[in-house]
Amino acid sequence: MMRIARLLREGQPPAYAALEGHEARLFDRAPWHNGVPTGELISWNTAMLLAPVEPSKIICVGRNYAAHARELGHALPSEPLLFFKPPSAVVGPNADVVLPAVSRRVDHESELALVIGMRAKNLTRENSLAHLAGSTAANDVTARDLQKTDGQWARAKGFDGFCPLGPWVDTRTDAAFFASLSVCCTVDGTERQRGLTSDMIFDVTAVLVCISAIFTLEPGDVILTGTPEGVAPLAHHAQCTVAIYDNANNEVFSLTNRFVAG
Ligand code: MG
Repeated sequence: MMRIARLLREGQPPAYAALEGHEARLFDRAPWHNGVPTGELISWNTAMLLAPVEPSKIICVGRNYAAHARELGHALPSEPLLFFKPPSAVVGPNADVVLPAVSRRVDHESELALVIGMRAKNLTRENSLAHLAGSTAANDVTARDLQKTDGQWARAKGFDGFCPLGPWVDTRTDAAFFASLSVCCTVDGTERQRGLTSDMIFDVTAVLVCISAIFTLEPGDVILTGTPEGVAPLAHHAQCTVAIYDNANNEVFSLTNRFVAG
């Protein structure tokens, strides 16, 4: 297993790197764009972590956990409900996210995000996971009032900053790993969401098969797999952490952002 991050060091362009303890092995570009190690090993504690991926598109699955569909008053979908977030919505760990003044209710949605490793179309249940680079954590930030009034979700899901990703890409891609995760969210230290990926209506493989039948997926593209129940509004100065744990309760990802009134 590797952890792939994108680092910003003072006076340097952003660089992809494999994190190994306190050290980072730099790459010349993203591994999923055929990047290779440059040979440079640095201590990464002084670097800033950026979003670990630069997707050409972000495809999201809505209502993929039954309890969350119910809490919003919806029937369970018979096939994955898909929408987009624009790449311009991506921010990294610890970035401030502006709560747009035009919305009266902006919610957190903690989600497991898949990162595509190679160009993919028409994946099958058998070959889909082999096309992943790995996974990361995402917050599918949503202006809930605009989602209801607009009729489609481009604005509600698409403001700048509405797609925090990170802090790194974990390269494990086996079905047992994806099916054994807890997807959690805490706001100002209080737990708001805790769901199990085993409770997804459409599992990671089914999502990949469905989405790749529609879109050609490019390396670095990101798929948000849906949020468990417990979505709630974020207030000015809220500290929101999306945390994902494995079945031994080890933290796999912790992605924190602060929300500030616009
Ligand atoms: Mg969502």
